[in-house]
Amino acid sequence: MKSNFKRVLAAAAASAVSAASFSAVMPVYAVGSSSADTFPFVIEGEDMEGATLWTQNYGPNPKNSSGDGFFYLTGSGASFKVTVPEDGMYTITARVAQTLDQNGRMETVMVNGIKRMMNVPYSEEWMDFNFGSFRLTKGENTIEFISEYGYFAIDKVTVSETPKHDYTLADGTLTDKNATPEAQSLMSYLKSVYGSHILAGQQEIYGGGHGGNYEWENEFLKDLTGKVPAIRGVDFMNYNPLYGWDDGTTERCIEWATERNGIVTASWHINIPKDFANYELGDRLDWKQATYKNYQSGEGSKDFDTRNVVVKGTKEYDYFQLAIADLAEQLLRLQDAGVPVIWRPLHEAQGNEGNYSDGTAWFWWGDRGAETYKKIWKLLYTTLTEEYGLHNLIWEFNSYDYSNSATWYPGDEYVDIVAYDKYNVEYNRGDGKSSGPNLLAIPAKFDSLYNLTNGKKMVAMAENDTVPALDNLLVEDAGWLYFCPWYDGGEDGGTAFLGTNYQDHDELKKIYQSEYCITLDELPVDLYQNGGEPVYEEVSANYGDANCDGVVDMADAILVMQYLSGSKKYTISAQGLINADCVDPGSGLTSEDARLIRALVAGYISTGNLPVTKKEFADIVG
Ligand code: CA
Repeated sequence: MKSNFKRVLAAAAASAVSAASFSAVMPVYAVGSSSADTFPFVIEGEDMEGATLWTQNYGPNPKNSSGDGFFYLTGSGASFKVTVPEDGMYTITARVAQTLDQNGRMETVMVNGIKRMMNVPYSEEWMDFNFGSFRLTKGENTIEFISEYGYFAIDKVTVSETPKHDYTLADGTLTDKNATPEAQSLMSYLKSVYGSHILAGQQEIYGGGHGGNYEWENEFLKDLTGKVPAIRGVDFMNYNPLYGWDDGTTERCIEWATERNGIVTASWHINIPKDFANYELGDRLDWKQATYKNYQSGEGSKDFDTRNVVVKGTKEYDYFQLAIADLAEQLLRLQDAGVPVIWRPLHEAQGNEGNYSDGTAWFWWGDRGAETYKKIWKLLYTTLTEEYGLHNLIWEFNSYDYSNSATWYPGDEYVDIVAYDKYNVEYNRGDGKSSGPNLLAIPAKFDSLYNLTNGKKMVAMAENDTVPALDNLLVEDAGWLYFCPWYDGGEDGGTAFLGTNYQDHDELKKIYQSEYCITLDELPVDLYQNGGEPVYEEVSANYGDANCDGVVDMADAILVMQYLSGSKKYTISAQGLINADCVDPGSGLTSEDARLIRALVAGYISTGNLPVTKKEFADIVG
């Protein structure tokens, strides 16, 4: 039975899950297939079809060409064919030289008719350039370097199999050391299915849409697929100091988690007064006088300076505190009911950065750039966790994946999951079509967010229009933790995100009914009870034993220093992190911990003295 299979998986250890299910879902390559090329596949530039042999460039001449010489792309391109045994992802690199544009030059590679343009930097010597990962289809594929901007030299081209993501790198522990058992349990479950399954999610309509039927989306999906999504997406927008009203969002979350055993994720469109200068703190306003847009958008608040949100003593700071208080009241109700939340505040951080003159987001929280955004994130994080005692939150950073995601990222210690919102039906399609559902799994976006944290944080598709096709997700190794289409506003004059302009209903059925996709009925019964005790509060520490081998010796001090160097090579287990944190436990690892362990090994103190306060540390070591 399918559902039983997934329940067994959910209960098993994370590593075993990945191994077991990968073999079930990933393509199996034909052994000894005689028709396929072998990889890495290498072709000389001058041997491509349509290429001419060059040995002398117009400009500075690259030395030591491979083969007979190279192909210099000018007025017409060149191509080659490569045959693969099954659909899969392949990386195209080329040994090139570009001696025309000091600032780089856009060059185009076309794979089976789909173009990708890349900026090739200036180089007078041969340089290995990576055009990225592409999906190749079973059988023959055509790869072309076409003449658009042209004028670059291609010595040779290599096509290699793209390595699979390592989903086991994802951290299943939470940044909040006092996370509730329910939040820990949910996080452990998410980690156990990450990379081997995708969770079905769906945003609910709110504020009285669908005639007040908040189950409309779920009923629609149940009718279409026979299944109900595992994740309910909500927004806490209507709890606010201006026109705030209770539309029952919190009750629905509690019911969803406690009675239907579902998962809750929430965003928060934070409203601010449009006329902030004349707003008296605490006044009520009509919703039409409220906004969450960029101050430069024409619909934003011209005199609300986002930079002041983090500055005590300003009106913006005080207003934000009021908004947090309204929100926290609801989140505390969820915590009291034992409901954890995949919490996605300050979403779509940088928006379509570059759209406005100062290059910032469409929401006000991003409208003064990355540094202010990150400060607001940290303020919100510390206020909710420390002042309001909220520990039921799994913090999800929702980037809009421009090349600058790293500059907007609040940091590993404030983020549990990273996410992207996929809207590519109207814009940025990339599938060669001009309308209708866009079934791409957008693997390059997935890669970008996976790489943002070196695989350490799980990657989710927090919002989307079209749910990607199952086949694309599997073949392209785009292991999104969940998908979550925005609500269907069709009947209310909004966008009909579940209609056929946005969803391919056959594909939606296929993924919902697949083994790969987890729906509400397939969540484990112990979803919120399987995390056991909060990891940091109740697990006892064997202080100093960073590598958990039962003894405290120099290897532990060295491991802590290696870990602090930031190299991915050195990891410390959750228990090890607790053990090693022996100066001021709970403060996280620093070089002081390593020095204290060294002092212990050298005999200056004994294990019975651990842990120590910072002051004791100074007395012993300083
Ligand atoms: Ca060559």
